[in-house]
Order: sequence, then C-alpha cells, then structure tokens
Amino acid sequence: MARVREKKDLETRLIHGAYDRQRHHGSLTPPIYQTSTFSFDSAEQGEARFAGNESGYIYSRLGNPTVDILEKAIADLENAEAGAAFGSGMAAVSSVLMALVRSGDHILVSEGVYGCTFGFLEMAQERYNIAHNFIDMNDEKAVREGIKENTKVVYVETPINPTMKLIDLKTVIQIAKERGVTVVVDNTFCSPYLQQPLDMGADVVLHSATKYICGHGDVIAGLAAGKADFIQELKMTTLKDMGGVMAPFDAWLLLRGLKTLSVRMDRHCTNAAFLFDKLKDHPRVSKVIYPGDPASDQYDLAKKQMSQPGGLITFEIEGGKKVAQKVLNKLKLVQVAVSLGDAETLIQHPASMTHAVVPEENRLAMGITDGMLRLSAGLENAQDIWEDLEQAMK
Ligand SMILES: *Cc1c(COP(=O)(O)O)cnc(C)c1O
Repeated sequence: MARVREKKDLETRLIHGAYDRQRHHGSLTPPIYQTSTFSFDSAEQGEARFAGNESGYIYSRLGNPTVDILEKAIADLENAEAGAAFGSGMAAVSSVLMALVRSGDHILVSEGVYGCTFGFLEMAQERYNIAHNFIDMNDEKAVREGIKENTKVVYVETPINPTMKLIDLKTVIQIAKERGVTVVVDNTFCSPYLQQPLDMGADVVLHSATKYICGHGDVIAGLAAGKADFIQELKMTTLKDMGGVMAPFDAWLLLRGLKTLSVRMDRHCTNAAFLFDKLKDHPRVSKVIYPGDPASDQYDLAKKQMSQPGGLITFEIEGGKKVAQKVLNKLKLVQVAVSLGDAETLIQHPASMTHAVVPEENRLAMGITDGMLRLSAGLENAQDIWEDLEQAMK
C-alpha cells in the first residue's frame, strides 16, 4: 500500500506550502498587498473587526495578507501551529522574549549568543529588571541548577555564533520541560531545512530571516513560530504594541527566497564541506570549527540533530588580529561583511565586528579569539572561493 503522507516533503512545501492561489485570482506568486489600511463595508463591520467578532484585516500593523502568507509558510516549515513575521531578527528576539517574561523574571541563556541578543539581554536586565545568565548548556548539571524559581525561559542558539558550538537540544528541552520552562531556539544558522527544534519539543523557534531564509542579502527580517495561543498573544501584545512588523514587500521577497531554500542550502553545505577540507590542512590556519568535522567531539550530535552540517565555518589564523585583518584586506572575491546565508561568500572578524559589543573578558570566555574569522560559504564555484582564500593567506 502506498504511503499516505499527511504532509508533502519540505522541498515541495517550500514552493507550494502555505499559499492558496485560488484565493488570489490564481496568481502564481503571492500578490503584494502594499497597503497600510483596509476599508470596512460599514461602521458595524469596523466595530465587529475591532471586537474580534469578525475576521478580516484592519490595519497592516495588525495583519496584512502578504505577510500572512509568509507567517503560514514559516509555521508549516517548522511544523508549528502558527507563525509571526517581524521587521528584523532582533525584533523577533526582543518581541518573543518580552512576550514571555515580566519584571523580576529570569532567562537562562546559552553561553555565546548573537551580539545584539547579548546587548538586548543586558538592557533588559539594567532597565527592566529581567535577569539572565549564560551557562554551558551542554553541562546538564549547570542547566538543572541554572533554572531558578523565577526562570521563565531557556534561550538557546545552536550552532552558537560564531564558535559553532552545538547544544544538545533534546537534553536541554527535556530538563526545561520537567521544570515547566519555555524553550526558545534561535534557528537562524540552520533554517528549517537543516534543523527543526519544535519537533524536538522546543516551544518557540525564531529566525533572523535576513540570513538563509531570504538568501539574497536584500532584506532585514525576522520570523517566529510556535503554538497558536502564544503566537496570538505575541501578535496582540509585543508585536502590535512595540510595532516591529514586517513590510508586505519584504514578506514577498522572503516568500520568493523560500522557494529555493533547499537548493541553496544544499549548495551552501557542499561548498562549506569543500572549504573545510582545504582550510584544515592550511599551514596558516591553527584551528577550524565546523559541525561536519568527523574529528570533532560534536560530530555525533551534529548528525543527530542537523540534517547537514550547514554553510558556516569558523577558523583561526595564526598571528591574531593583525594577521587576520591582513588576510581580509587581501581578499578579492570573498566579501568582507557581516551577515551570512547570502549567495556571496562573506567573511568577518567577530572580535572586532559582530561581537565587538561583548566585553573582552566575556568574549574570550565564549571562545571568540582575536585571530578568529567566520566564513559564510556562498553559492559560487567552490574552487574559486578557495583560490581567493588561498591567495589572501599567502
Ligand atoms: C543576524 C542574527 C540575528 C539578528 O537578526 P537581524 O535580522 O540582523 O536583526 C539574531 N540571531 C542570529 C543567530 C543572527 O545571525
């Protein structure tokens, strides 16, 4: 008997998943509803919509049909009940966290997070009395002891930016669940194509959609997905009232990007694997960190929770910051830029760029050294990327 599937495979859903063409005159691609507001048929209809007695659009900060299609798409891809779109990845991070905590609460955070997430947590602590602390999430005892009476959220990034350290999601989620604590996973580095934290039991997954989901380096955006009641609350509170919403045109660009996510990710991954093989044998490179390294003690974990090792490689140049900067200045094809997941191969120096806001002491404790470079493998010919890196390291 043929296998009856509830859902089509991800590659197909990326293209056909959430969009109902029949509701939009058969338009092959989703239309852009470039409008700020929506006219009501009558005063009574306006009243009913505001009262929540009739579904329908009111004002684009509260909901927009193009943005809705994208929100349905991310929910579908992450196997969530609902999704929400934001004007940036940081709007997703801050809105999700602010919807989950109140003054006096505590957030337990994986050691090493995105630089601005670190900045946001510091600000929340200083100004709003929302405490946090960073722990090694692979230390089970530390996780158990780190969850206090007032801990409302366990916040995890895996792989961690830029050290590529992985966190065992299953274990962390299990401990948090026992204690009734919400688990939020920043899945930016993987995209739903490589890792699906909700399937492992996480409560909320979020993305800087600026990266792999967009894939073309032309949008700043964020996405989140989770249970319908949480997403509804998020939309009616922090998203609506703090206002970090996504523009309809950006939603359209992301829907366009999503169609090729699987094809792009496969290529990012094969290019990264190729570059890892070359980098690990290069005399100027003292260390390479890559989840697909069979010699790494996290290789088994990578295989367990990621379908492929991803497109990012972090490596250390011998000679520290001076030499690392010299290498960057010699590159011709590879672009010296922050961000990741674009068609172009990008390289950056975390200590002086993405993680410059992190005090040196914390930065070194996170393992972000002065000679460290983070490379996002693009979609170019792998040999061409390597030749550029090789000439720059001469
Ligand atoms: C880029 C990034 C963010 C922030 O996203 P923006 O779209 O730049 O606001 C958050 N988390 C991770 C892991 C990122 O790489």
